[in-house]
Amino acid sequence: MTRLVYDSATGGNCPRCRKQLGKCRCAAQVAANTRPAGDGIVRVRREVRAGKTLTVVLGLPMNAAELVAFAARLKAGCGSGGTAKDGAIELQGDHRERVVALLQQAGHEVKLAGG
Ligand SMILES: [Zn+2]
Repeated sequence: MTRLVYDSATGGNCPRCRKQLGKCRCAAQVAANTRPAGDGIVRVRREVRAGKTLTVVLGLPMNAAELVAFAARLKAGCGSGGTAKDGAIELQGDHRERVVALLQQAGHEVKLAGG
């Protein structure tokens, strides 16, 4: 009498990409697409660094690629330069009112924070 030692349905392979679990990169992909956990409220604040005013957007529920895309939208909407990094978007100049309006248009709950 033979007994199946391994379940042939999974066979030790990833159910998502069907590669052997040791070769599967799904977990890494999921990590790259993970959105930072927050309270769902986007915060917009003004910062002054080295004498230059920045508008900083924090708490966006976006992964890195989405953040870069949204930064491009804000830059276009404000007619200003800026960068997306470390989960935040920084725009050159004080564009808080415009940024809040654009965020609300995109369906985000927004709070002005700090000075
Ligand atoms: Zn996989």
